[in-house]
Amino acid sequence: MSISATKRLRILQRDEFACFYCGRTLHLNYPVDHQNFTHPDLMDYAALDHLDPQRSGGSHHDDNLVACCRACNSSKGGRTLEAYRFSLEMKNPIVQAREALKYARSLVQLPMDAELLAAVTLLEQQNTGIIFPGEQKAALRLQTNVGDVA
Ligand SMILES: [Zn+2]
Repeated sequence: MSISATKRLRILQRDEFACFYCGRTLHLNYPVDHQNFTHPDLMDYAALDHLDPQRSGGSHHDDNLVACCRACNSSKGGRTLEAYRFSLEMKNPIVQAREALKYARSLVQLPMDAELLAAVTLLEQQNTGIIFPGEQKAALRLQTNVGDVA
């Protein structure tokens, strides 16, 4: 089942023509004569992404569709939102260090002097969570709608 042009436009308008994942401004239509759809120049053209991927039963419902650029769309692939978020977070050196440390500590008892303990604690306290621009926007939309009702 494909998504109608009307629906595509509605989602893009709702998301203010910005990529859910990276926030970049999206161009609406491909240049008509462009044949190579993976060309780097086309990466900021609008695509729709299923937050919950189709392959795992994600629907075409508006709530499951977001505007995104072709670059993010292809980078997310068929992963769920959380799996994609995790994969991006794992690119952060702080997260890598934390995960490596967690793993090392699961294998051996590390001697923890005060200095090492302080470093470990600092590492564990770093906020490395990723919130996508589209999630912030959606939260704001929700607040606004709640405000309208009250
Ligand atoms: Zn993007």
